[in-house]
Amino acid sequence: MFATALSQLRYGAAILTNRRIRPRDLERLARDLVATIAEFGEPGEDSALLPGRAGQVDPQLRREVTRRSLRATTRTAARHTAYYRRLFAALDLDPATLEPEDWARVPVTPKQALRALPAAFVSDASAPALMALTTGTSGTPTAVWFSRAEMEGAIAFSTISAVLGLGLRPRHTVAYAGCSRATLPLLYAEESTTRAGAAFVQLGTIEPALALDRLAAPLGLPGRSPQVTHLTTSASYLAALVQEAEQRKWHGGDFGLESISVGGEVLSAPLRRRATEAFGADVSSGYLMTEILPSGATPCTRGHLHHTTEFGHLEVLDPVTLEPTAPGGTGTVVHTPYVPYRECTLLLRYATGDLVRLPAGPPDCELAHLPATSEILGRWTGPLSTVVTAREVLDLVEAEPEVPLPARYALTEGPEGPDGPARLHLLVPRLPATGLLGRLEERAAAAGLRLSDIVLHEDRAALPPTTPVRADLREHSFESVGDPGPRRH
Ligand SMILES: [Zn+2]
Repeated sequence: MFATALSQLRYGAAILTNRRIRPRDLERLARDLVATIAEFGEPGEDSALLPGRAGQVDPQLRREVTRRSLRATTRTAARHTAYYRRLFAALDLDPATLEPEDWARVPVTPKQALRALPAAFVSDASAPALMALTTGTSGTPTAVWFSRAEMEGAIAFSTISAVLGLGLRPRHTVAYAGCSRATLPLLYAEESTTRAGAAFVQLGTIEPALALDRLAAPLGLPGRSPQVTHLTTSASYLAALVQEAEQRKWHGGDFGLESISVGGEVLSAPLRRRATEAFGADVSSGYLMTEILPSGATPCTRGHLHHTTEFGHLEVLDPVTLEPTAPGGTGTVVHTPYVPYRECTLLLRYATGDLVRLPAGPPDCELAHLPATSEILGRWTGPLSTVVTAREVLDLVEAEPEVPLPARYALTEGPEGPDGPARLHLLVPRLPATGLLGRLEERAAAAGLRLSDIVLHEDRAALPPTTPVRADLREHSFESVGDPGPRRH
């Protein structure tokens, strides 16, 4: 274990001095963790100290690390990227002496700036290797360049997180039902799974009936669980799978699934419940985003998201005034991913557009030492997106089995204008659906949703434009579904 101790030490020293991290030190940490589990059946006592494990750190030390990380990241960005070089030339702010109190004077970086000119954010001291494109459900995709070293580091982090967070072991098989063109998440999922010794299947976002057949099929592999045990997917594609499973009368016992991880979209409470019932598996949703990798957030048992302080700096700001959101208020996630984890695309105060609510008081949970927000409530697209959030709409409509999944809806201005109660338009299979409408109105009122009224549409063409979802990125297959009838009874 001498080598591990040495890599741990080098890693720790690199963090404290913001020096470049050697990918092979991280790889060694991940490899030794897997070897420890293979030999002893469980991780060692010091695994809480591994990168990304959010171990408790002395608050004084954390403040110092934050101060140094912000300064080092700002200095590197101002020196090595065209965008921040120009920005800081016009600012009366020296990155070399930046203090946390000055941080609010660094302008927030809008998403449109990165989308318009990704190369302006690429460090001239780095070697761009892979362009990751976001799925761009909010419009044009955003391109983010990553270096080989960043990718190797992030793969080591995801391996550690797969083994310790997800509990992945060699008997498991992970199926990935995400878009096959999203290279980066696919690469991380495949590499971390196989490095943990587990098996990996790429399903893609194929016809849901075919995906269910593959998930239920016996694998027949020696030493492995008989069926796929883990599924990684987006909330909307999970919704499509739930719909198919419910309609064709699949049930939990048909699958060997233990865990479903959902990312990238809002996972509503009723969808989580229906997926748990349909597949007999735990369903969890974390927060990861291409632009801020390897930063992200983990859910706790009290329903917060807790954001890592190790890989980046979180702020929650009002989407319009960019002032800090008060406790109990709603704002958007603004994030600064730190060097040395990031060395290629550098971003300072990046406005993700993701809406969260801050807890009214200090959280009292197992992750209370990490900054907490609510789960992601939706995406900021204008005042309407906070009058009623995407999460509130999905919690309302995805609880109704009559509403086809993934739910198609739109919000438009109500009679009182953009800040007043909104009108909800929802696609349903047939009209009149008076029972459904009555139930939705009743539940919306009980939940205190700021809706002026609910309009049901049978014809999708008559529905105002809806937000695209990832399940829309359907991948074609030459297979056809054999038996369209009910699967089991
Ligand atoms: Zn919590």
